[in-house]
Amino acid sequence: MAKQTYRIAAIPADGIGTEVVAAGRRVLDAVERTSVTELNFDWTEFPWGSQYYTETGTMMADDGLDQLRDFDAIYFGAVGWHTVPDHISLWGLRLAICQGFDQWANVRPVTFLPGVQSPLRKADHTELDWVVVRENSEGEYAGIGGRNLGARGRGSEVALQTALFTEVGCERIMRFAFELARTRTHKKVSSVTKSNAQQYGMVLWDDVFKRVLLDYPDVDTESVLVDAMAAKFVLQPEELSVVVASNLNADILSDLGSALAGSLGIASSANLNPERRYPSMFEPVHGSAPDIAGTGVANPIGAIASAALMLRHFGLDDDADRIDAAINAVTEAGVLPRDLGGFAPTDTLTEAIIAQLS
Ligand code: ATP
Repeated sequence: MAKQTYRIAAIPADGIGTEVVAAGRRVLDAVERTSVTELNFDWTEFPWGSQYYTETGTMMADDGLDQLRDFDAIYFGAVGWHTVPDHISLWGLRLAICQGFDQWANVRPVTFLPGVQSPLRKADHTELDWVVVRENSEGEYAGIGGRNLGARGRGSEVALQTALFTEVGCERIMRFAFELARTRTHKKVSSVTKSNAQQYGMVLWDDVFKRVLLDYPDVDTESVLVDAMAAKFVLQPEELSVVVASNLNADILSDLGSALAGSLGIASSANLNPERRYPSMFEPVHGSAPDIAGTGVANPIGAIASAALMLRHFGLDDDADRIDAAINAVTEAGVLPRDLGGFAPTDTLTEAIIAQLS
């Protein structure tokens, strides 16, 4: 049988992004060698990011989206460096891709690994596992607004940052969350809202949720204010399965989730265009971590787990399971990076995961 080829665009970008993407690629090389499926990962690496901005004045090539359009997936590192204002680096690359390719569903599993100590005492004796589903195309990150009146002098400037909620945008992410819940043992969707204070966008969000849930009578539901949900992550995490939230709320909650699981360094994510009209993008949740960049201690687990999400997107579930099992075996054996309280450098941890795949 002919080998199935998957064309992947790698964009390591900034800081530890380059280190963890290299680690993820090594793991995928090992998957290629050891898979029972005849497969081939065909990589193209793009040099975009803050260094590219310094050289060219843009974060990615002007025709960057056209260059990426025909890939099967994008494997992304992290963006952000002190030489470029954060809003420029973020909007110029990562958000440009997410929005340009309508990657409207951002899936962020909160995974508790064996051998990793959680700051939650409950995690010692309770099985915890939930997924944050983030609306990734509108909401608070719609990029609508402006600054004005600065010319009137110091202290006069005003800024509007407008959140955009559309019925279509709310409905599609909620249906995505319900479909995901149906695949899980605990069939429940928790909707995160703030409709007590945000009486337009968030009330529309709630109304759509109430309408959509009627189509999924087999799935339990709840609607929780974002502040209460933050407390729930800490106090009743065993009640969570799929948590669906707007762009900003989910961004904050998923970082809280990964910190509760042990570290931002283990959190994976998928930016999906579920209709598959465009390539989807897979990346660790963490940023470029300039404080440790270049020192060889970055935790590659978030990036490697994101590679597993990419394989699931390709339909290679057995190989994705092998990666997840390898990560579990390595942390359980106590091979841990610095952010998880251990001493294993990036390379050692990556090699240990690769050894488990062989
Ligand atoms: P950004 O690039 O998003 O502007 P950042 O890199 O400063 O932000 P985060 O990614 O949120 O921020 O990380 C905060 C800190 O957590 C980092 O500075 C680093 O010390 C630690 N950290 C994050 N990711 C990892 C990782 N993969 N391995 C080890 N430490 C990490």
